[in-house]
Amino acid sequence: MRFELTLLGTNSALPAFGRFPSSQVLNIQENHYLIDCGEGAQIRMGECGVRRHKIKQVFISHLHGDHIYGLIGFLSSLSLSDRTAPMDIFAPLGLEEIIQVLLKYTGGLSFALKFHTIDTEQHRLIFENASVEVYSLPLVHCVPTSGFLFKEKSRPRNMKPEKIEAYNIPFHYIPEIKAGADYESSDGQLISNEELTLPPPAPRSYAYCSDTAYQKSLVPLIQGVNLLYHESTFCEDRQGQAALTGHSTAHQAATIAKMAGAERLVLGHYSSRYHSLEPFLKEARAVFPNTELGLDGKVFEVPLEKKV
Ligand SMILES: [Zn+2]
Ligand SMILES: [Zn+2]
Repeated sequence: MRFELTLLGTNSALPAFGRFPSSQVLNIQENHYLIDCGEGAQIRMGECGVRRHKIKQVFISHLHGDHIYGLIGFLSSLSLSDRTAPMDIFAPLGLEEIIQVLLKYTGGLSFALKFHTIDTEQHRLIFENASVEVYSLPLVHCVPTSGFLFKEKSRPRNMKPEKIEAYNIPFHYIPEIKAGADYESSDGQLISNEELTLPPPAPRSYAYCSDTAYQKSLVPLIQGVNLLYHESTFCEDRQGQAALTGHSTAHQAATIAKMAGAERLVLGHYSSRYHSLEPFLKEARAVFPNTELGLDGKVFEVPLEKKV
């Protein structure tokens, strides 16, 4: 029941100081989601042991090059390994046109691409499968941009095995009881669901917020999130530049995490003006202590909790 984020690139704009532009892979219960795909993403996938053929959905926040220039190479590599499974690509308007032009002149793919245009001004459910729901998060940047909120779906309650035996519960009643029903035994005794089951582990969540200016409207949308990746392109010494370019400072990222009651904050999307990242960590931790630096190759796991 894995819930694990692997960072493939944590720099903004261009590769620098051993940091590649934005890209990451989220593994939720062995479903692998690629989030942004900057230059160098495939190199990091190899280094991090990410199996690219497992990725079935790609989520692109916006069309700046540092978030998409690795995508055509990634798709091309899959085609060279004769992939046949289709790929869903969620992105703001324009990506399909970019990719189709590239494919027109460089050759086609061995598999189909299904493009899904995101309305970057809306907070909407954009994808779901058996284990997860993905919502768009409207961000404030200089081009249409969407973050993503990944939320695990609730699991059924867990049966207490000893109760099945004690009350001689027929097998076909078990799915109903796990869904929350009480049980009436053959002699008319009503046994409450609480007595028969244990609560499932709490669903886990991850929010990806890059690129964005500081905006409080994000807070209610990501309230209580387990893991938050919030861009921090600059430190407070360049707050003016952050505001001008549609980016945030480490202090602002930490403020959002604090207001949202996030469990853990990961910083990233650093400007190449900064070699050392320690000032980011210091600045953010002063506001939100449970902050960590995002670094290429770093893995963040959200463990299962045993209570709701
Ligand atoms: Zn960027
Ligand atoms: Zn950008």
